[in-house]
Amino acid sequence: MEGTMKGAYLPGNSTVVLKDVPIPKPGHGQVLVKTKSCTICGSDIRAIYREHTGKGAEGYQNVIAGHEPCGQVVEEGPGIRRFKKGSRVIVYHISGCGVCHDCRMGYMISCSSPLRAAYGWQRDGGMAEYMLCDEKDLVELPDSLSYTDGAQVACGFGTVYEAIMKVGVSGNDNVLVVGLGPVGLATAMLCKAMGAGKIFGIEANGFRVDLAKKLDLFDKVLQAAESNVDEIKSLTGGSGVERSFDASASDKGRAAAIRAARQWGKIAFVGEGNTVSFNPSPDIIHPQKSIYGSWVTSIWLMEDLVERLVRWNLHPDILVTHRFPLEKADEAYKLMDRGQCGKVAVCFDSELK
Ligand SMILES: [Zn+2]
Ligand SMILES: [Zn+2]
Repeated sequence: MEGTMKGAYLPGNSTVVLKDVPIPKPGHGQVLVKTKSCTICGSDIRAIYREHTGKGAEGYQNVIAGHEPCGQVVEEGPGIRRFKKGSRVIVYHISGCGVCHDCRMGYMISCSSPLRAAYGWQRDGGMAEYMLCDEKDLVELPDSLSYTDGAQVACGFGTVYEAIMKVGVSGNDNVLVVGLGPVGLATAMLCKAMGAGKIFGIEANGFRVDLAKKLDLFDKVLQAAESNVDEIKSLTGGSGVERSFDASASDKGRAAAIRAARQWGKIAFVGEGNTVSFNPSPDIIHPQKSIYGSWVTSIWLMEDLVERLVRWNLHPDILVTHRFPLEKADEAYKLMDRGQCGKVAVCFDSELK
């Protein structure tokens, strides 16, 4: 494909710059994807939009932004083995070397090679009309899922599914989710589909408390307060929840996730940044609790998740409260930064309702 396209860049200082750049040409093992939807992740805001927090090669390399892209293959490079022109695809957002230990496990997020490049961080991402993708980074998007469903799988829902699989969630478990931004809401959606018992949420932002209630994913949503741990205990017969998830990334939120978990409970941290303080003996050692860290997911688990979303008839796009065309990417990032929203998507063509 010849010509130019628009792409959105994030120079820092909470700004977005649109530039005209040439439409890329797929090389060996690559395809050109027509972007249909690209959602904005909390880490885009925290680590790139406000300021570039990553150091050196691990930081944002002034490329086209957007690491939650989904679209359709429009051009095949030589040597393509599975996907073809017309394939609907989610982009697993880290391109790994393919031959280090974690890449071989499918966890390209943890690739240890200097060749590792995340879309929207070290190589061009989805905030553009087209994007160049390595075929090995693609996950097939089933026909019954929308491109905006798929965009959220590329990072957010994939991250949540990984954390849930690490701690395990079933009908045996009451669940607490702390922080009800898009990741927290996704956690409740998936835990509910997996048969969790009661699901509770804690959130500080009033808009997000209201949105969580409206989506009807929780048995109870609590406004963040010092009394939250006691409230969760009294809602669970005095014992606390079997599984808790922190997506708040706040010191207090994480401590609440630990303390509201019952004896032998499992806690997963997915929210990034900041710190946490707790007292090891009374908070985790004596009550036999385990804390899990979880970072994104593997590409095979992402494929499994997509299959389950179809089976469960779940549509991640119900979490999208605002859609913008690429020309208004500036407004999209600004809104996500303020947090008076659910998930925010930059959409193209028919996805722009
Ligand atoms: Zn992300
Ligand atoms: Zn690797």
